[in-house]
Amino acid sequence: MKPAPFEYFRPHTLDEALSLLAEHGTDAKPLAGGQSLIPAMNFRLATPAVLVDLNGLSELSYINDGPGGLTIGGMTRQRALERSAMVPQRVPLIAETMPYIAHPAIRNRGTIGGSLAHADPAAELPAVMVALDAAFTATGKAGAREIAASDFFTGLFSTGLEPGELLTEVRIPPQAEHCGVAFEEMSRRHGDFALVGVAVVVHLDDRGRCAGARIALLSVGDRPMLADGAGRSLVGQSPSAQSIRAAADAAATSDIDPPGDIHASPPYRRQLARVLTRRALERAFECARQGLGQG
Ligand SMILES: Cc1cc2nc3c(=O)[nH]c(=O)nc-3n(C[C@H](O)[C@H](O)[C@H](O)COP(=O)(O)OP(=O)(O)OC[C@H]3O[C@@H](n4cnc5c(N)ncnc54)[C@H](O)[C@@H]3O)c2cc1C
Repeated sequence: MKPAPFEYFRPHTLDEALSLLAEHGTDAKPLAGGQSLIPAMNFRLATPAVLVDLNGLSELSYINDGPGGLTIGGMTRQRALERSAMVPQRVPLIAETMPYIAHPAIRNRGTIGGSLAHADPAAELPAVMVALDAAFTATGKAGAREIAASDFFTGLFSTGLEPGELLTEVRIPPQAEHCGVAFEEMSRRHGDFALVGVAVVVHLDDRGRCAGARIALLSVGDRPMLADGAGRSLVGQSPSAQSIRAAADAAATSDIDPPGDIHASPPYRRQLARVLTRRALERAFECARQGLGQG
């Protein structure tokens, strides 16, 4: 199918884009990589009267390292993250996750801001950002504000962005010392959206006890779910097969209430969450322990 008719604007500065979005209000939608929006328009699931194409905004395409952490412009392509030499050094969780997102052709166009603003509960990057405790800059005509990743996703395909605001920057705080990360997912074919996935960030204190654990699951609710109880259960303990198994059980039972669909029933999703969380925690703690050995 072809999309419904729309008016098209291609601004060259952020200010121009924000003015257009403010002028056209809820009739307008920003266009980033188009990998979710254009199919939705072709199916007439989205019928914006106005498209504001962000692809001329080179100022929103960057990956920078600084004392506050890594900052990534909203229009940075997923492929740029995958190919960056800095990302595996600074945020190895992103580097590990990128190949799971769709296929190279889609990552060539798809942007980090588009994936996060789209807020698909089966997408990888939203869960990864929650696990990393990232913060997003939302910029509108009235100015910019920061939203924590864990507050940003408000429901199925919905976020804390106000009409007229753009997600302009993602900030990922520096990794704690003795940190370990892991990403695991199960999908029917490589590149498909995951049936369940999990992103884990753990860190150890100098004596090898867990000083923090953030476990974020995807495809188990209407948004990325932080398995808070499971994470808390690990803190203060020396990670062991038993404590990891107990945390994975908590993540799969009390922390989530997964939906069923034609691909997976709720009990199957819980079982996947249990197994994938256990595997991810084992790998993340192992990686943190290696860092401890070198420290
Ligand atoms: C066949 C196929 C398979 C896929 N598989 C996966 C997968 O396995 N995992 C996965 O995570 N994704 C997958 N995707 C989606 C892909 O990652 C998209 O790139 C991503 O969801 C949207 O990014 P985009 O830049 O293309 O955004 P667009 O499609 O341009 O926009 C998506 C939405 O976000 C809004 N938007 C875009 N940028 C901003 C911004 N900066 N500020 C505010 N709003 C904004 C748009 O208005 C629109 O509503 C798949 C897509 C396809 C076509």
